[in-house]
Amino acid sequence: MPVKSNPMNQYARARSRALLSFLLCATALSLSAQKKYLQCGNLLDVESGKVLPARTLVVQGNRIEAVLEGYAAGTEADAVIDLRNSYVLPGLIDMHVHIEGQSSPDSYIKRFTSNEADIAFESAVYAERTLLAGFTTVRDLGGSGVNIALRKAIQKGLTPGPRLYTAGKTISTTGGHGDPTNGRTLDEMGDPGPREGVVNSPEEGRKAVRQRYKDGADVIKITATGGVLSVSKNGQNPQFTIEEIQAITETARDYGMLSAAHAHGDEGMRRAILGGIQTIEHGTLMSEATMDLMKEHGVYLVPTISAGREASRLADVPGYYPEVVARKAREIGPMSQKTFAKAYKKGVPIAFGTDAGVFPHGTNAQEFGYMVESGMPAAEALRSATLTNARLLGMGDELGQLKAGFLADIIAVSGSPLDDVHTLESVRFVMKDGQVYKAD
Ligand SMILES: [Zn+2]
Repeated sequence: MPVKSNPMNQYARARSRALLSFLLCATALSLSAQKKYLQCGNLLDVESGKVLPARTLVVQGNRIEAVLEGYAAGTEADAVIDLRNSYVLPGLIDMHVHIEGQSSPDSYIKRFTSNEADIAFESAVYAERTLLAGFTTVRDLGGSGVNIALRKAIQKGLTPGPRLYTAGKTISTTGGHGDPTNGRTLDEMGDPGPREGVVNSPEEGRKAVRQRYKDGADVIKITATGGVLSVSKNGQNPQFTIEEIQAITETARDYGMLSAAHAHGDEGMRRAILGGIQTIEHGTLMSEATMDLMKEHGVYLVPTISAGREASRLADVPGYYPEVVARKAREIGPMSQKTFAKAYKKGVPIAFGTDAGVFPHGTNAQEFGYMVESGMPAAEALRSATLTNARLLGMGDELGQLKAGFLADIIAVSGSPLDDVHTLESVRFVMKDGQVYKAD
């Protein structure tokens, strides 16, 4: 586990010391400070894809009060944050993470040895890494339910992390990709139902959505096809009927919840789109006909290229995955980037998302490089991770842009991401909700 290795610990300690001293100064300032004046050498307007030189963002409380031309400093009571050597942009949004865990050689054993408290402590570390990497908002697409507790803790300010929109537990069918008892002994398998996330009829689908609403989930996630990392044979077969999916998405809409479908195989994707799903996750083996269907129904592809690449790399590390998983990872993993390139070119709507957890949290921004490599201009990739994702989350008027009235989720990097998108992999400044979490 990277969290236990020495270099990371030293880094984390050094960073916490730096952060602590910074926060002490910030606290001292905030006693008297009315507003924060962020002097930005370059402000990235993600909507137009243009860089605006010399701007000042005035932050009051958790919102941007004004965007001024030139450098302003307010009164003596206000705090000035010098970002004149930086490129400043809205906090990034990842539509697909699993904040509760992270791939490791003992991932499959940990399912039997981890209690919820263990998961909680780990997930807090991953949440902080994600935030410090510039991802100020993420959509968590499934875990044990600890993700809901984590969201509450972050909202209360008990632990640092991104704004979390979480699915709670995934919804699957018996033996499907998200059935939490796959690969267990017959005794342990039992017969999980809607509460655990296993449904086998439209009625059970509705019940599972309502249960998630009651649990406090924000979004709904189904596993429309087989998947790579589950201990089961097929990585792409359709696993829901259209009627089941329809019942789920209709109920989700009643409760104001967005519905996402994990899908590698084409038939499962087709059913998910026709069943009213709003985002297709992975979309790995998507046919051209299904790409057209995505466009026709305005359904977004969340490409998760990072996960496809990482899974196919780890498949060749002996003993890392169970053999049944390694085989699927070799077969399906490499396809995600190729399909993304085709889908982008064909005009399929794209929402930035990585599947972090399959690879280390905090390295989410590598996805930008893969998107650009596949033919998407950096400005468009950035727009998908800000403007597009904010709108999908129903937060288009508050997140994803740096405008007066918007929430103060602001990050900075040293070079222009439009010239070199890899600069997003080393974020030097992070503000969320008007609070500074990182300032190098
Ligand atoms: Zn996932």
